[in-house]
Amino acid sequence: MLEVYACHPENSRGRRHAEAPAPTRNDFQRDRDRIVHSTAFRRLVYKTQVFLNHEGDLFRTRLTHSLEVAQLARSIARSLGLNEDLVEAVALAHDLGHTPFGHAGQDALNECMKELGGFEHNLQSLRVVDQLEERYPNFDGLNLTFETREGILKHCAQRNALIIEAQEPGGVANRFLNGTQPSLEAQLCNLADAIAYNAHDIDDGVRSGLLTLAQLEEVPLFVHYKSITLSLHPALSEASKSRRLLYETIRRMLSDQVYDVIDVTRSNLNQHRPRSADEARKAGALVAFSNAMAASVQEMKSFLFKHLYRHPQVMETTDNAQTVVRELFHAYLARPQEMSSDFAAREETPRAVADYIAGMTDRYAAREHERLTGRRLFA
Ligand code: MG
Repeated sequence: MLEVYACHPENSRGRRHAEAPAPTRNDFQRDRDRIVHSTAFRRLVYKTQVFLNHEGDLFRTRLTHSLEVAQLARSIARSLGLNEDLVEAVALAHDLGHTPFGHAGQDALNECMKELGGFEHNLQSLRVVDQLEERYPNFDGLNLTFETREGILKHCAQRNALIIEAQEPGGVANRFLNGTQPSLEAQLCNLADAIAYNAHDIDDGVRSGLLTLAQLEEVPLFVHYKSITLSLHPALSEASKSRRLLYETIRRMLSDQVYDVIDVTRSNLNQHRPRSADEARKAGALVAFSNAMAASVQEMKSFLFKHLYRHPQVMETTDNAQTVVRELFHAYLARPQEMSSDFAAREETPRAVADYIAGMTDRYAAREHERLTGRRLFA
């Protein structure tokens, strides 16, 4: 089933600490299982994607987002003969390093750590699986394979790439220095992430009332699929059917993006004919949208940025979230003993504080903030 250019578990570059093979599972299945059983994975359910966790029960959280990414990535992987187990592992782990309160939290923490190495959520996801999870007697982290770790580190500043490269020569940061690509499975997870969040943010945006169907007339991609939907199902134009109209439009839009990626990637693979996963890494970005679809997706992203992520109501929670993260950071820095003992005991206090805050769920961060400052910023 696996094509030659896929990551084959028997050719894995292996784990940082040698382990005996499992009797019934290959190494990528084992990685996925370790991720699902991790503490950081369970916390994703209480972490913000766009809407804060307590704003409503119907919106995506980091956990449901990660499951949607895994589903999309697996179905594309199956069509292309790529490794489904590996894409599932990468997709489920890709957001483990996210702070509470989504990008607002990450920006605030990055600002706090500016002079101290900064904070990047992709790099943090790698720190979670490499160092912060404490589950095994003989090593820190989950000891995942190179291929899963490579997929998790999807972006990385040059400065951090140099640090990782010094610790792990030729390892997961090497590609940021030599300009090669990660595996096809990792490239796929990256695109599946974007396909998933664009679609579900429109859905959540409309259901929250922050976006309207009328505003979406600005998005050509949405308009295109809405008109197809209405021509096939004219009854959906009734106001009482607007939810079904929304879902059917998003469903068609999502499917076409998936088919677009499959078609373009197949043709790229036919052209380059990589004979191994390593040849694929050197062949440029092969998992891709067509130029037309990439442009349409970009228009949709810009729309979401302007009308949803910058919506006054979202911005207000963003401001509060940043205050919580910033004040927590300074409170723990002044009194490390307020953190749990294993973090308080670490030598490098600022990084311990950043790791501690990054691991928090939204509600735990809000409660801790109230405990340490006496002020309640979230109801
Ligand atoms: Mg994501």
